[in-house]
Amino acid sequence: MKICVLPGDGIGPEITAEAVRVLNALDLKFEMEEALLGGCAVDATGNPYPEATQKLAQAADAVLLGAVGGPKWDSYPREQRPERGLLGIRKQLGLFANLRPAILYPELANASTLKPEVVAGLDILIVRELTGDIYFGQPRGIEMRDVDGKHQRFGFNTMHYTESEIRRILRVAFDAAKKRNKRVCSVDKMNVLECTQLWRDVAIEVGAEYPDVELSHMLVDNAAMQLVKNPKQFDVMVTGNMFGDILSDEASMLTGSIGMLPSASLDENNKGLYEPSHGSAPDIAGKGVANPLATILSAAMMLRYTFNQEAVAQRIEGAVKKVLAQGFRTGDIYESGMKRVGTREMGDAVLAVL
Ligand code: NAD
Repeated sequence: MKICVLPGDGIGPEITAEAVRVLNALDLKFEMEEALLGGCAVDATGNPYPEATQKLAQAADAVLLGAVGGPKWDSYPREQRPERGLLGIRKQLGLFANLRPAILYPELANASTLKPEVVAGLDILIVRELTGDIYFGQPRGIEMRDVDGKHQRFGFNTMHYTESEIRRILRVAFDAAKKRNKRVCSVDKMNVLECTQLWRDVAIEVGAEYPDVELSHMLVDNAAMQLVKNPKQFDVMVTGNMFGDILSDEASMLTGSIGMLPSASLDENNKGLYEPSHGSAPDIAGKGVANPLATILSAAMMLRYTFNQEAVAQRIEGAVKKVLAQGFRTGDIYESGMKRVGTREMGDAVLAVL
């Protein structure tokens, strides 16, 4: 079980250190090697995704990433921006499936802007296709055209999906649902977009391969409303790149706790890149106050999806639930009466439960 650890920038090193401590505390043998990605890699080599990192990432079974970026690099030329490193690794590893759980632990129900009874106990998984759709469609551009009797600027992007691209992401969603509550909601816009009529047709075909998982369909505009109105109706939601971009951000905000949300991006063979959903939080970097739980929960996702260690993944998730029940809170999720702790102490609390 080879893991490439990429702490990155800002709070990245602090939070990945805690996830690594958790992994090392398990009765499993990992080979872990660290490398540079993002701004720290630009500083050391001039390249946000240096060759040495590429080699390690390609040879590993899974990548654990902190976060990249920060104001220091904002004025650098585009090819030297930390985000380039992130896009580079995602592309090189062929990560086409993005899994983002939105979980609201009952203890943190007040962090949401929605009423506690609407969101307490929320546990949904958004599966977003990551390498196709209108974001990667051709042709694309802005050019001068004669339209409506006027020579004017004309902007265009093209949405397209092949049935094999749709089939493989649907299979990821159904496989995930099998490990959860066995319900998949496929989100499309088939009333307007032919491309997503194909999406729905293929979803029905794939659904037939999974008789034990219930499949439903929802139009994306309704899905956006239902996520706010009654989010607990969902188990796994699967959708294309653009709808998934928007819905996964909407879903994560239902929880109000960005420091709690993990994510996974998988390739065809369940090799994955695991990272918290938040960024490098430069405002609190180096202070030892960042919440490490999103990164620790990302490590749990790694055990579930890449290493097929469901029981161990659940042990970590159970430990996180327990430390919340015990009242441990980093600043981002603090409420009066709770025990305010820093990054390392939060890691200690999880280790103590494990
Ligand atoms: P951010 O997620 O870094 O921070 C937003 C707010 O949430 C900040 O107030 C921050 O302190 C807080 N926060 C985030 N994670 C936290 C944690 N674990 N514990 C406690 N508080 C936490 O988003 P931003 O400020 O928009 O971006 C900062 C930098 O991160 C930018 O350079 C951006 O490009 C980069 N970024 C990187 C990734 C990534 O590496 N995947 C994702 C998003 C943003």
